[in-house]
Amino acid sequence: MTATRVLVLNSGSSSVKYQLLDMVTGRRPAAGIVERIGEPASRHLHTGADGERRERVRRMADHEAALESVAGELAADGMGLDSPELLAIGHRVVHGGEAFSAPVAVDEEVEAEIERLIPLAPLHNPGNLAGIRTARALNPALPQVAVFDTAFHRTMPEHAARYALDVATADEHRIRRYGFHGTSHAYVCRKTAELLGRELSELNIIVLHLGNGASASAVAGGRCVDTSMGLTPLEGLVMGTRPGDLDPGVIIHLARVAGMSVDGIDHLLNHRSGLTGLCGDNDMREICRRTDEGDEAARLAFDVYVHRLKKYIGAYYAVLGRVDAVVFTAGVGENAAPVRAAAISGLEELGPAVRAELNFARTEGPRLISPEYARVAVAVVPTDEELEIATQTYELVTREAGG
Ligand code: ADP
Repeated sequence: MTATRVLVLNSGSSSVKYQLLDMVTGRRPAAGIVERIGEPASRHLHTGADGERRERVRRMADHEAALESVAGELAADGMGLDSPELLAIGHRVVHGGEAFSAPVAVDEEVEAEIERLIPLAPLHNPGNLAGIRTARALNPALPQVAVFDTAFHRTMPEHAARYALDVATADEHRIRRYGFHGTSHAYVCRKTAELLGRELSELNIIVLHLGNGASASAVAGGRCVDTSMGLTPLEGLVMGTRPGDLDPGVIIHLARVAGMSVDGIDHLLNHRSGLTGLCGDNDMREICRRTDEGDEAARLAFDVYVHRLKKYIGAYYAVLGRVDAVVFTAGVGENAAPVRAAAISGLEELGPAVRAELNFARTEGPRLISPEYARVAVAVVPTDEELEIATQTYELVTREAGG
């Protein structure tokens, strides 16, 4: 039997999400999530091939227990980690630092480097590493591939990746702009080229990945030349609970004048800022509903969010020189027509424009929302990070097997 399936694992700090993808048929025979790892009532929700959903609630002390539960559910459906159809596991790894600009087959050295990068991604890399180690323990013969969120952005030129900080200090602590959501940005660029019927190598694209976390990137001929997230996923756009760009003096002020601790500031910036900080809600659906009802805090949150988006579109216009497409993706980008309309409005002189009937139409899949006369296409392209991780994993493993 030919191995055509890839298991994609996204081991977060307290959850493991997974999808099994068949790279020949395009089917996804299993998917699921284990949540609240380490708590008394961890929950495992699994969906099998026939769409049957199974839920288990019991304590899973760590990632090892969670992955054993995943392997058990897959085995119960005849798709265990020792199944001959399974080609490899593709792991989402958040931080690849400067070392990784492409997916890699995991070996001891790769594992050690992911471990060395923990200080740069303390919430994410430990879970990613635990996923890799446990999966290997469960089936040592199965190829494992690490696909990094930062890899797509390694093509950024030094002048975009550097902060204007003292070089020795920055280098000692590996402080530079790495960028995140790379698998999404890469996938969306390829899909945009397909949608436009053009070669990716000849396109300049601005990608706006607007989910709970949000980032923009400027992509020239398929290569990222700038992105809005930096050393950590805090920089750039306004997000659900994170502020994005902030005068670093605010942090000094919070510490020195407001007397906040480092942990307190960390919590403020990661959980109590962004849309939540401005209006108490982080869900754009709710914000649009409240705005329609005349709620002023929600209106302000919406306006701050859109203003920042506009600034990035303008900045990336200048960085790229010529833009062929502005593309919206992820939860907000794919669904919130009012955000798309507001972000593009007033930019017509630059080239992009949005046609209301197309923007507000309930259409799924990749689509153009700009009028035919627009010099710059505006598109909505649903992201699919699992498919991108599976594709990169499949390509690497089949290439290596073929010599
Ligand atoms: P994550 O970063 O967690 O992967 P998603 O890409 O799934 O996030 O985006 C989640 C966000 O998308 C939600 O918090 C919500 O703000 C937004 N969203 C989802 N559906 C809609 C919708 N129909 N209209 C407006 N916003 C939406």
